Amino acid sequence: MTLTQVEAQNRSEQITVDNYRISLDLTHATSSNTFPSRATVTFHSKAPETHLDLVAEQVTSVKVNGAETEVDFRDDRVYLSGLDTEGLNEVTVEALCIYSRTGEGLHRYHDPEDGRYYLYTQYEPFDAHRVYACFDQPDLKGTWDFELTGPESWTLLSNGAEIERETWETEDHIKVQTCRFAQTKRLSSYITAVIAGEYQKFDGGVWKSEDGDLQIPLGLYCRQTLAADFDTEDVFEVTRQGLEFFNNAYQFPYPWGKYDQIYVPEYNLGAMENPGCITFNEKMIVRGGPSRTQRSNRANTILHEMCHMWFGDLVTPRWWDDLWLKESFADNQGYFAEQEATQYTESFTTFAAARKSWAYTQDLRPTTHPIMAEIPDLDAAKQNFDGITYAKGSAVLTQLMVHLGRENFFGAARRYFQKHAFQAASFSDLIAALEEQTGRDLGPWVRVWLQTAGPSVIRATREGREFVLHQAGVPIEGHPETGKTIRPHTFTIAFFAANATEPFSVREVTMEAETLRLDLTEGEAAATMIVPNAGDETYALIELDAVSQASAMAGLLEIADTRIRAVIWQSLWMGVYNGRIDPAAFALAAVESASTEELGILREINLVRSVQVISHFLPRQRWAATAQPSLKLISSQVQDELEASPVDVDRARSWINAYAQLLRLHPTEEGLKELTELLEAHPEVINPALKWTILTTLAATGKLSQSELESHASGDQSGETQVFLATAKAAIPSLEVKQAAWKSALSGELSNEMFSATLEGINQASQYELLADLREDFFQQLESFWNNNSIGMGTRYVTQAFPSSPDLSAGIGTENELVKRTDQWLAEHRDASHALLRLVKEKRDDLVRYLRAQENA
Ligand SMILES: [Zn+2]
Repeated sequence: MTLTQVEAQNRSEQITVDNYRISLDLTHATSSNTFPSRATVTFHSKAPETHLDLVAEQVTSVKVNGAETEVDFRDDRVYLSGLDTEGLNEVTVEALCIYSRTGEGLHRYHDPEDGRYYLYTQYEPFDAHRVYACFDQPDLKGTWDFELTGPESWTLLSNGAEIERETWETEDHIKVQTCRFAQTKRLSSYITAVIAGEYQKFDGGVWKSEDGDLQIPLGLYCRQTLAADFDTEDVFEVTRQGLEFFNNAYQFPYPWGKYDQIYVPEYNLGAMENPGCITFNEKMIVRGGPSRTQRSNRANTILHEMCHMWFGDLVTPRWWDDLWLKESFADNQGYFAEQEATQYTESFTTFAAARKSWAYTQDLRPTTHPIMAEIPDLDAAKQNFDGITYAKGSAVLTQLMVHLGRENFFGAARRYFQKHAFQAASFSDLIAALEEQTGRDLGPWVRVWLQTAGPSVIRATREGREFVLHQAGVPIEGHPETGKTIRPHTFTIAFFAANATEPFSVREVTMEAETLRLDLTEGEAAATMIVPNAGDETYALIELDAVSQASAMAGLLEIADTRIRAVIWQSLWMGVYNGRIDPAAFALAAVESASTEELGILREINLVRSVQVISHFLPRQRWAATAQPSLKLISSQVQDELEASPVDVDRARSWINAYAQLLRLHPTEEGLKELTELLEAHPEVINPALKWTILTTLAATGKLSQSELESHASGDQSGETQVFLATAKAAIPSLEVKQAAWKSALSGELSNEMFSATLEGINQASQYELLADLREDFFQQLESFWNNNSIGMGTRYVTQAFPSSPDLSAGIGTENELVKRTDQWLAEHRDASHALLRLVKEKRDDLVRYLRAQENA
């Protein structure tokens, strides 16, 4: 059952938490589906009644102030009565809680390769109460004492450092240990954490601040079967650089003692900022070694989580409507610290090229919302970890930093931490810190940037010697204000001559009205390329003037600054997305640019997009003609990369990946033969992920049977290979195979990751006709699947099983059979959960957009 904002507010007016003592017994984790959980909460209450949140198979005992009371456990709540409204209450709840396979609560993973077990918790925003009874809302902070019991050989971790360990033997002769951990400072429930299992530890020594006052032990953990592939030194280096950076920038010493980072399997997200016990998706450990882009992305995630040790953990948003107050900051500061403190100085190029599309595309949908969102309950909160809260918020903070100056930005952050440390805060507290720091009234800025939805569009035109910038809002269905919002934008404009690496002129402008006219010099007026927002300072869809756009599409650019290249390609990509630029022309231009692109992320993103525009933005009858020139170029590029000496592994992998993806849309005998040969030829390039991308293409195009796929997996029992195999098998173009895979996905027996892998295999854009029956079944089962599964699994179902590449020959616009079926479902399910409705509406919006592009292509 959800918790509403009103209920949470009422509870926080009544309750002040002092301390939690949590004891979990994981001794039988390898054989039982439940575990004993005991929570003792001490708190003050102004009312004699309240409730604790808890999901459990059974509650065995509730004690209130020493007296056993009748258990009143219903709707995932333990109702309490007879509380002392004067003194401190002590309530103990004993329960049998359930191990999770969905990545929510206490997840249990069994490694198929060596039989070892790995457990970890994941709680945000509302899953701590799947593991112990608590007041599961962010503003009710308490100190926490954890005690964990588990097999003697296991690693047991929590937020605090281990302070005591006792080994003993149970009645059934199992050797176990009981560990107690240092009491935490005041924490919200959603960032408490428990880790248990046979994890491999890497000791990173102790990081010391310059003055030596701060000493933080560093640890890394992962599954034993992944340990040999873990490039730990890169992670430790970024961690040390980040600690140095944030401790200096925020002038508030890291308050959580140790710094353990645990890489865990079947994780629902990238990482989670549990103080002192940060969890990461183990996909960041790459078999065969990560690419530079993968290392840079991992560094970014490490620094994002580290920023949360202050923004989020030290000062926590009171309620989920202020989620941006931690996520926008962590997102922004992750990129900032990465640029300032690590070797991955291209971080803001990555942001401009990749992360920003997440914001723009989300912000153009009818389900968009202001950065400061309204969040009535926890279901809404769970859907709000989105491109607005993270990427748009982050981009808008970059503009704020330009607007106020970097020193003021960090000065305000320091005030905010000093004033609200170990408490909950809200938006007005942060704005107050910014206004105190700068002496300025930020009200108007806040209104147009944080309290209105939708992106601005900045359109450039050349009128003789004048450069004209015109600003407008984008009208978005259901958001009347979006078409009218005019915002202040400060940014630079760079002017380039043909084939120049450096701009011959750069100007900074502030645009406060609809139109800005700039008088150009003769040289500027003749520039081959003029790039507004050249430093990606602001958040706006940039439409290049006609001359500049033509130059970019013709590949006339040798610009040295990677961020400017990213801004140009982002503009072109959003041009395709909004129907301004021909998708077929973009597909080829993107591949051509990739062949000369030195920076991995820019090469990779253009290759991915060159495939994506074909599968989504072009009608099927144009796939072959559009893919042919790209395939030719990619094939020869693959050969060149493999003949180079030495081989640049990152480059070679990105081209082979593009080859495999594109051949899925337009399989040629020659291409598939080349792909098959690549499997054998280059072991250092073909890591398991790439091997299985190739095998999935061969499966999807009917070249490999299930048993042939299995023989490719034989001798490799690793968990990752089982996941890859599930995708490849389900990709086989046979109705029988598809139906069996679909049945298995819906059986309720697959873990979160196997579920997604199976759906990914089934749902191939190139198999539209074959999937007709499953599409109908998808809609039939949609609501019941949502209602009978966790929101995490429901979200996977919608995002991965929804047919995302519509067929124009099945009707135009809202007459398309898929759009009609979606509309019918929406009409018949007006009362469905609003989180589900939001997801389906977003998918519908995508369909209509793709069909419009296909029709105009
Ligand atoms: Zn975050």
